[in-house]
Amino acid sequence: MKDKKTLKKELKNLFNSMDFICDNFLSREAAEEKHLKIFYNIYQQLAIAWEHLGLQCKHWDGFRKTKEKNEACRICGKIKGVDDQYYLLPRSGRKKIGKKLFPNSKKVFENREQATIVNDTVDFYGASLNVDVHNRHKSKLFKDKITIADERIVTLKECGIECSIDQHLIYIKMNKPLKKAGKKKYGALLWELRRNDLKKYPIIIDYDENRNFLGLTILK
Ligand SMILES: [Zn+2]
Repeated sequence: MKDKKTLKKELKNLFNSMDFICDNFLSREAAEEKHLKIFYNIYQQLAIAWEHLGLQCKHWDGFRKTKEKNEACRICGKIKGVDDQYYLLPRSGRKKIGKKLFPNSKKVFENREQATIVNDTVDFYGASLNVDVHNRHKSKLFKDKITIADERIVTLKECGIECSIDQHLIYIKMNKPLKKAGKKKYGALLWELRRNDLKKYPIIIDYDENRNFLGLTILK
């Protein structure tokens, strides 16, 4: 990340270059079509550089009012409240993308698309992480139209194993068993299982002296 002084200087130089291209080439009436295209492309490339430098700006000097009644950063010119096109992540240290989002409306939306707040996936050194946050919405998933509840669900996938966490549940889906998989699927609380069945599942329950549940381990 650049410091304020360096960034200010680089942005100033960049704005000068953009103005130069604009004033001397793009605004000239007699410019030839093919030259115009080249200068137009240069201007676009400078705009990309502007966007990338702007990502490093912390808007240290605050915002000024523009003619269009927006607020623009005094240093990078970014308009307040407009989403960035790119993410800039440091190579070392903790990476941060976005803020923690939750369902934010009591409304029942017409479809999943309208109800979606975020549904984004990052592939991180071979592990996949998805965050899906949406409001309530109608669905025709089953025969009758039903309402799908709002939720924030985070899913991590690693080695074919999937772990999903939402407001109510933590669900772990194992990769396919080596032996032939059965067609039916059952679910039971631990105490509902027969002792002989219990022995087949490699699960260790952690608890304290007051029998509080602390966690569980699944042996692979
Ligand atoms: Zn700025």
